[in-house]
Amino acid sequence: MTTTGTLYIVSAPSGAGKTSLVKALIDTMAQVRVSVSYTTRAMRPGEVDGVNYHFTAREDFVEMLKQGDFLEHAEVFGNLYGTSHSWVKQTLAKGYDLILEIDWQGAQQVRKLVPDAKSIFILPPTHKDLRQRLHNRGQDADDVIDLRMQQAIAEMSHYVEYDYIVINDQFATALDDLKAIFRANQLRLESQQKRHTQLLCDLLR
Ligand code: 5GP
Repeated sequence: MTTTGTLYIVSAPSGAGKTSLVKALIDTMAQVRVSVSYTTRAMRPGEVDGVNYHFTAREDFVEMLKQGDFLEHAEVFGNLYGTSHSWVKQTLAKGYDLILEIDWQGAQQVRKLVPDAKSIFILPPTHKDLRQRLHNRGQDADDVIDLRMQQAIAEMSHYVEYDYIVINDQFATALDDLKAIFRANQLRLESQQKRHTQLLCDLLR
């Protein structure tokens, strides 16, 4: 796939604060977009179709899969999730940097297809913090939280596959770290050449 913008993969166990960090990041960076995934899981209170996810019936998802509509897809906790191939292609072609908030299985697929993609793993500072954050959501009973902790540990075991690690202890610091990754990549030679073609030409005249 030829691209102009940069593709970023952001993964984290649930409760690590990934979604809040990504939202805060895109609020301050006009050049960055987030992909809205397709999923077969049920909508949670407060979620909006087309904003948090494209909520899709399982048979429709399977049909899209057959049509080759997904750049990557995975089954997570019994639900299917996938990223629209065409939307990713169009958004990158417009020059936007693009974030995929996906799990480690999807990340592995995307790395193979887009070797230039930059991947970031967000970790909680301690087990205790993660458990507390899962608790604070107020959605789950203790035995469900135990299960979520086990799932989180399994997800976190994949951190070594990522280019960058951000530890979300203090939100503001983690956000600064995330911004630093994007900013540094935007300043890379190839990006700057694309953005400032005329200026670079003029300077060498
Ligand atoms: P949740 O249902 O709690 O929003 O997300 C559950 C998990 O699915 C998270 O790890 C999230 O990153 C992952 N996920 C969300 N969308 C996608 C997607 O399009 N592809 C893949 N592979 N994982 C996704």
